[in-house]
Amino acid sequence: MERYKIPENTPVWVDESRCKACDVCVSVCPAGVLAMKQEPTSTLGAIITVVHKESCIGCSDCELSCPDFAIFVADKKDFKFAKLTKEAQDRAILIKNNNYKILSA
Ligand code: SF4
Ligand code: SF4
Repeated sequence: MERYKIPENTPVWVDESRCKACDVCVSVCPAGVLAMKQEPTSTLGAIITVVHKESCIGCSDCELSCPDFAIFVADKKDFKFAKLTKEAQDRAILIKNNNYKILSA
């Protein structure tokens, strides 16, 4: 079976074709890296997207909690992850309070 192609120099990436828009990964991300974007063609009208990859701390909570194996985190030996900042934590709260949706600019 063909493995999803791993992008280079990226902390976290998604296979949109597998995402069922359950919001779980967004709910567990402590750093406001993930959010749901509108996608009319998807099952629930939304799909996961990586909005702030520079804030990913590599905790892998998203990958471990996704029921559809749609999200992947780089190996710690391959990528230097960010440290958790107050700004990232605050953004995570805002996204969760925004019903897991991407924040408007
Ligand atoms: S690895 Fe952790 S910080 Fe990075 S996107 Fe997943 S849950 Fe968020
Ligand atoms: S946990 Fe998986 S299926 Fe659910 S929104 Fe995130 S990527 Fe999509």
